[in-house]
Amino acid sequence: MVIVMKPGSTDRNIGEVSKALENLGLGVHISKGSQRTIIGAIGDDRVLENVPLELMDGVEKLVPIVESYKLTSRTFRPESSVINVGGVEIGGKELVLMAGPCAVENREQILKAARAVKKSGAKFLRGGAFKPRTSPYSFQGLEEEGLKLLKEAREETGLLIISEVTSEKTVEIANDYVDMFQVGARNAQNFQLLKSIGQSKKPVLYKRGLSTTINEWLTAAEYIMSEGNYNVVLCERGIRTFETATRNTLDLSSVPVIKNASHLPILVDPSHAAGKSQYVFPLSMAAIAAGSDGLIVEVHPDPMHAMSDAAQQLTPQAFDSLCEKISQLCGIIGREFEYGA
Ligand code: PEP
Ligand code: MN
Repeated sequence: MVIVMKPGSTDRNIGEVSKALENLGLGVHISKGSQRTIIGAIGDDRVLENVPLELMDGVEKLVPIVESYKLTSRTFRPESSVINVGGVEIGGKELVLMAGPCAVENREQILKAARAVKKSGAKFLRGGAFKPRTSPYSFQGLEEEGLKLLKEAREETGLLIISEVTSEKTVEIANDYVDMFQVGARNAQNFQLLKSIGQSKKPVLYKRGLSTTINEWLTAAEYIMSEGNYNVVLCERGIRTFETATRNTLDLSSVPVIKNASHLPILVDPSHAAGKSQYVFPLSMAAIAAGSDGLIVEVHPDPMHAMSDAAQQLTPQAFDSLCEKISQLCGIIGREFEYGA
C-alpha cells in the first residue's frame, strides 16, 4: 500500500502517518517528490483493513500496489529517480558511460585502460577483482590486490570505480575501495548478497540474471531497497535464449518496460550481451535510442591477450569512436553526453 500525501502536507503529518504504520508493524519508506510525498507501507498490509488512514491529516488517498515489487515501482515513486554517485548523476538527461576491462589484470593494464576511457568521456572505470567465472579453473581475479589497483587508477584519473561483489565478505572488502558495487548476472538472485548491499547503502549497479524475468528482477531489487538502500541502478546485459549467434540475447524491450514499471535508472551492457566486439557498437546505439541511461562497456588496452572475455572487449580506439557516435546520437534523442574529457 502507498499513502499519497496532499501537496503541502507537513513533516508532522508525514511523521504521524509513519508512526501509525510502524505501530501496526509495517515498514515505512518515504519518497519525497517535487509535488507530493508518498509513504510506502511495506509488509502484510492486511493489518490496514480496518484502519481509516485516509482520515488522518494531510492524507490524500491510499493506493494499493498490485505488483509483487513495491519500492521499485512507479506507484511508490512516480518521478524517475536520479542516482548520484560521487557527483555523477545516473538517470538524468546526461548519459553515463562506465568502461574498462572485464578483469583487473595488472597495474599497467588497468592504468592504460583508465586513461583511455577517461579521455573518451567515461565517468566510471569498471574492472572485476572478484570474478564469478563459470569454471573454477578459469582466472578468478586479483581480489583485494585488484581493488587496490582500481583505487590507484581513481587517484590518478578521478574516474569513479565500479567493481563486482559476489558475497557478503566481498561487500565488506570492496566497501573501502569502490564508489559503486556491481551485482552480476550470476548473483541476481543471491538474496543474502542483495540484503547486505541494502545494508551498506552504497550505490549498486544491479544486473539482470541470465534467466530472470523483468518481474523477478524488480522483485529481487526489493531486497536491496527494503533494507534502506535506494541507490539502485538496473542493468540489462542480455538473457539466455535458444539463440547461439551471440553470447546472450540483448532484451532491449526491457528498457522501455522498466521505464514504465519502475522509477529506477537503467543502463545496458552490450558487451556481455554480444560476446563479440563487432556487435558492441550497434547494440550500444540501439540501447541508447531505446532510452537507456547509459552503458557499461568492456574496454581492454590489448583485447587479444585479455585474461577473460577477450572476444568481446573493445580496443580503446573502438571505444573512442563509439563515444563520438554516441554524442552525435544524443542530439537527435534529446540526451547529453560529453565526448572527450
Ligand atoms: C562482468 O561485468 O564482468 C560480468 C561478469 O558480467 P555479467 O554478470 O553480466 O555476466
Ligand atoms: Mn566480462
